[in-house]
Amino acid sequence: MTHPIVLVTGGSRGIGAAIAIMAAQRGYDVAFSYQSNAKAAEEVAHKIRATGRKALATQADVSVEADVLRLFTTVDQQMGRLDALVNNAGMLEKQTRLDQMDVGRWNRVLGANVIGTFLCAKEAVLRMSTQHGGKGGTIVNISSAASRLGSPNEFIDYAAAKGAVDSMTIGLAKEVATEGIRVNAIRPGLIYTDIHASAGEPGRVDRAKVGVPMQRGGTADEVAEAALWLMSEQSSYVTGTMLDVAGGR
Ligand code: NAP
Repeated sequence: MTHPIVLVTGGSRGIGAAIAIMAAQRGYDVAFSYQSNAKAAEEVAHKIRATGRKALATQADVSVEADVLRLFTTVDQQMGRLDALVNNAGMLEKQTRLDQMDVGRWNRVLGANVIGTFLCAKEAVLRMSTQHGGKGGTIVNISSAASRLGSPNEFIDYAAAKGAVDSMTIGLAKEVATEGIRVNAIRPGLIYTDIHASAGEPGRVDRAKVGVPMQRGGTADEVAEAALWLMSEQSSYVTGTMLDVAGGR
């Protein structure tokens, strides 16, 4: 029996780890990348193998083209095929106003969130598109509610990067709609993960949840459920869509 194969970027922690583990529980063999935390990656690989499915963890910075090319070649060699890509790897930097940011930060934020998403989407299309001899597939981009909210006084650069991911989702979905590939995005709201600590406020979700109509933060598993649906045949007529998983925010 063949199992579908998914590549989840940034699958070692947070939302990406939840997607990688849930995909294995639903029958996928799972390749995932991480940037530097090899220990966290090994723990996720262990959890995937415990479900009986194959796990492949590869270090790769998605903002570096050579790393992305090596990542996809490794998946080709070890998994043999690619049915789904989840462009999850992303980051933000310390909360501040735009007039306190510098060009180095913008290059890092746009590099990881935008260029990384573009690089991985390109490699996936080259493998999945029927125009390139592929059998089709699905791409799920993890955007953010920030693309609609703008994130003033926190990280406008990150919000704008996710806005670019939304636009790319719409354009690419139309570009490959007749080539067997569906492209969608998820816009998570305030989700309990380590990302808020990297913004300088580990308790950000609990501080900000009063602004969420449902009055709570979300879990990585709640985002993973949406990703698994968008990857599945159950969403076969859905493409170019932004799915908000944000408690009404
Ligand atoms: P997280 O807990 O900080 O985990 C980030 C993951 O991405 C880690 O696996 C990390 O690898 C990897 N990563 C970061 N930069 C990378 C790079 N340049 N190349 C390769 N891998 C990289 O973050 P998260 O909260 O799960 O976020 C996942 C996605 O959801 C991101 O795109 C984020 O923007 C989006 N999102 C999150 C929230 C939220 O509230 N949490 C809300 C909206 C959108 P290492 O483990 O090696 O560091």
